[in-house]
Amino acid sequence: MALSSDSSTGRDSREKITIQNVSRSYESTQALADVSFSVAEGEFCCVVGPSGCGKTTLLRAIAGLDDPDGGSILVGGDPVTGPGLDRGMVFQEYALFPWRTVRGNIRFGLDRPACDCPDCEARVKELVDLVGLDGFEDAYPKELSGGMKQRVGIARALAVDPEILLMDEPFGSVDARMRDRLHGELLDIWTQTEQTVVFVTHDIDEAVTLADRVIVMDADPGTVQSTFSIDLERPRGRTARDFVDHVAQIRDELGSPVETSH
Ligand code: ADP
Repeated sequence: MALSSDSSTGRDSREKITIQNVSRSYESTQALADVSFSVAEGEFCCVVGPSGCGKTTLLRAIAGLDDPDGGSILVGGDPVTGPGLDRGMVFQEYALFPWRTVRGNIRFGLDRPACDCPDCEARVKELVDLVGLDGFEDAYPKELSGGMKQRVGIARALAVDPEILLMDEPFGSVDARMRDRLHGELLDIWTQTEQTVVFVTHDIDEAVTLADRVIVMDADPGTVQSTFSIDLERPRGRTARDFVDHVAQIRDELGSPVETSH
């Protein structure tokens, strides 16, 4: 689904996340400076930009894990004051508990992680199936490939059926073939769940593969440079003319070498 024109600053009745003039400094570093944009309900929004432009800081602020110095973040019209069950987060380095099995890690994402009632057990089973880990319920993280670990991370984030999925370079550590597969699986899950997704990446190809809209950030200080609507049918072929054109436009906008998958 594509947003109409540029809605980076205007309010919209479908707005799910509203970021208004957000700033965040760490000692002498201004990680975010006056960042404003909004994300529509059900939108798949990718944030790209060079290392250090504040992508993780921004995502953590939306998750309620970090408190900006200025500005505000609204979710469904309400200010973010801390983490909440309405937002699930997937981290770059999996962040799984090594001493818990796949089932145990996914259960941890439930509101009642210690509960083994039939409903919670059924929910874990549903999530295992959703991310394609059937048969691996009793495996420990060290027994899994990077792609499988990240699927556990996704299942854990989805456990309480959050309205918003926040993903911080989730596929940065998996190989290109597995990444392609996970892109397809993530888009299938997104279609089924109709969640609002904010997906951080420094890979332009990945952003154009996934997003309805790409927010391009600049570093030092971290600001929003521009936004691009990606109005292409899915699944998107990376060699298609329109795809290549979008990638080239974003790369030109960034004006510096940012990774692509090729
Ligand atoms: P990105 O995710 O785009 O790489 P980050 O949000 O991680 O960017 O970081 C933005 C800037 O803020 C960087 O210059 C980084 O070094 C700095 N920064 C992030 N977290 C901290 C922290 N906890 N303490 C000090 N500086 C930080």
